[in-house]
Amino acid sequence: AIYFLIRVWHGSQRELHHTMHLTDDISITPSLDMDNLKLLQVLDRGRYGCVWKGCLNEREVAVKVFNPCHKQNFLNERDIYTTAHMEHDNVIRFIGAEERIGMEGTVEYLLVMDYAHHGSLYHYLKTYMVNWTGMCRLGHSLARGLAHLHSDFVKAGESKPAVAHRDLTSRNILVKADGSCALSDLGFAMRLTGNRICNPGQEDTAHITEVGTVRYMAPEVLEGAVNLRDFESALKQVDMYAVGLILWEIATRCQDLYMGQPVPEYMQPFQAELGQHPTFEELQVIVSREKRRPQLSDAWRENSQAVKSLKETIEDCWDQDAEARLTALCVEERMAELMSMWSRNSTVSPTLNPTSTAGSSSV
Ligand code: ADP
Ligand code: MG
Ligand code: MG
Repeated sequence: AIYFLIRVWHGSQRELHHTMHLTDDISITPSLDMDNLKLLQVLDRGRYGCVWKGCLNEREVAVKVFNPCHKQNFLNERDIYTTAHMEHDNVIRFIGAEERIGMEGTVEYLLVMDYAHHGSLYHYLKTYMVNWTGMCRLGHSLARGLAHLHSDFVKAGESKPAVAHRDLTSRNILVKADGSCALSDLGFAMRLTGNRICNPGQEDTAHITEVGTVRYMAPEVLEGAVNLRDFESALKQVDMYAVGLILWEIATRCQDLYMGQPVPEYMQPFQAELGQHPTFEELQVIVSREKRRPQLSDAWRENSQAVKSLKETIEDCWDQDAEARLTALCVEERMAELMSMWSRNSTVSPTLNPTSTAGSSSV
């Protein structure tokens, strides 16, 4: 069968001059048969273009089509996905990337990846409530994916650099059919180690640190006070602040935490305080100056060690002091412990539960 790619074009002609003189080889996966790619329906419109559900030789895929003015984002995202040893269960699987000439004779950039059945975590939490196990599964897999991204190692003669995500939000995390998370939207991701990164100079400071989504910006980012002397740790800590907010989002939709009381509708972090479109300045006041965080519900009873430990984990991620924040690896361990604590809770009285497991793992 012959499939046709429905070419989409959302940019404007005047932006074309930025993209016409391409010298780099965009197509890194020549074996990928893009002619058999069929775009079926628009899943979402992001900041940089449009994401389609499609199929590639009977396989369900997602295709991110970039506007030409966002070529740099495309190149960066492709570059990160194709970095050695990036593949991981909890990072969305990259299939291929291509530059094409669209219907109107203009350039467009395609990034093909695995289709995540439930779409973004944001959408998932708006639609569903989760139980304790479901919550831990989401949190654990998110932390596991990020621990992988943040790690650097050498395997089979190839080294994987540490990578910071720099735009972690519930919209940039996907939920797979099995209820586990996969990190995605690596458009702002940045290598922190290895020889392709040099220490940023003063003039690059804002460029390095002031990226991402304002709602999820860490206090030090809002203050322009990211410690660039150790920017590897600093940028990982910025990611961890966002993880704190995301764990809070997940927990607000966990029915087991409300003990039979109704579970509130999904709300974004700081939506209760600042509404739908918070500004940078508003977040500066609330997050940096007043050191406020999203509210941990009164309904989350602390009579169980599991609930107490969950709250501590969230608070230890969004700590005002960046250096005091948990690492992704530590959150991964904590979420694994939390998962098993609940099953012990349900057989043993929560108040009699030993407290040693959660307390000993802090980093
Ligand atoms: P942008 O950089 O424009 O924000 P994203 O990569 O975040 O683009 O994608 C935008 C949205 O498209 C996501 O929030 C999600 O709803 C949807 N989406 C992206 N990738 C996938 C995928 N692989 N499977 C399912 N939905 C996806
Ligand atoms: Mg996005
Ligand atoms: Mg993006």
